[in-house]
Amino acid sequence: MNDQKKIQVLQDVIRIPSVNGKEAEVASYLSKLFIDYSIESERVPYCPGRDNLVVTISTGHGKVLGLSGHMDVVSAGNESMWNYPPFEAHIEGNRLYGRGSTDMKAGLMAMVIAMIELKEEGCPFNGTIKLLATVGEEVGELGAEQLTKEGYTDDLDALIIGEPTGYVLGYAHKGSINYTVVSNGKEAHSSMPQEGYNAIRCLNDCIMVFNQKMDKISNDYINEELGKTIHNVTIIHGGTQINSIPNKAIAQGNIRTIPEFDNGKVIALLKETVAQLNQDNLFPLELTINYNKIPVEANKNSTLIQAIQKQFDTPLPVLGGPATTDAAEFIKSQKQFDIVVFGPGVTTVPHQINEYVEISNYFEQIDIYKKIITTYLSDA
Ligand SMILES: [Zn+2]
Repeated sequence: MNDQKKIQVLQDVIRIPSVNGKEAEVASYLSKLFIDYSIESERVPYCPGRDNLVVTISTGHGKVLGLSGHMDVVSAGNESMWNYPPFEAHIEGNRLYGRGSTDMKAGLMAMVIAMIELKEEGCPFNGTIKLLATVGEEVGELGAEQLTKEGYTDDLDALIIGEPTGYVLGYAHKGSINYTVVSNGKEAHSSMPQEGYNAIRCLNDCIMVFNQKMDKISNDYINEELGKTIHNVTIIHGGTQINSIPNKAIAQGNIRTIPEFDNGKVIALLKETVAQLNQDNLFPLELTINYNKIPVEANKNSTLIQAIQKQFDTPLPVLGGPATTDAAEFIKSQKQFDIVVFGPGVTTVPHQINEYVEISNYFEQIDIYKKIITTYLSDA
């Protein structure tokens, strides 16, 4: 594929505004592109308008290497703040601007083109390349969860997730939990509080105990690569009038977890705390876990990472990162396999205005992916 076409196909997918939806349009575009090169693909519907796409190229024997990228993007925010419209895929010098340029349509298209070019070159490898293009990564890794549950990852020996890392290999990241606590009470005039029950006061007690207990966890456990558990109450609502005892208050919080004190332990701690407080509460606090993604810690010296390092004179740094990826779902697969996060892009720009990817980085990544695939899927 020539350079102009490589840029064109990336621009085409950035121009599909797949903001938490419309991944089916991206999947359609990709399956048509693959058909042009005589490659079949399989659509795995999540819900109307949202399809995952699975594409396999195989020589019929050998190992199976997965490549994965998500097709959704986050909202462009205030579009008037952008120097160029976020879904125009405007090019200025070496930079291609647009929502999803770095996170992560460049990574996705680099994988797609690497597969197409290897097919055109007569599949110079022994094994199978399996592309898993997912929906809803940004809102809960929905596609990765579905593909894992439906067995699409059960034959993998290794998986590369093409999220933007620059020239760094990601082997670990924290997990993430979102929770909500609802506190109920009884309204009364603030001059006669004995007639009511203050929901804010109950909630406040709960937040204080959560903070104390989570601070202790943060001090007691540490992961060398990922650091400490992080807990923050991030949203709070309650009360309607300054001279009324409030009958409802809600708090929401986010916790970034590490394997040393995993999601199961954190959730048990929250539940236990609420149960203890409720022994004295007239109206019980209600705890809901809204989001639960486990931490990932893959083998730092896997065959896959070795295959990547062979492509570079100076080995790339192998690091942990703070943000969750589709890996948090893929590692729940029946089969254990090597995982690395490695993709083109500028790590400081995802989810921001004026997101861009460097075109030279995108081109290089296509070649690097091809070399990694042929190295990993070699006879040896
Ligand atoms: Zn991403």
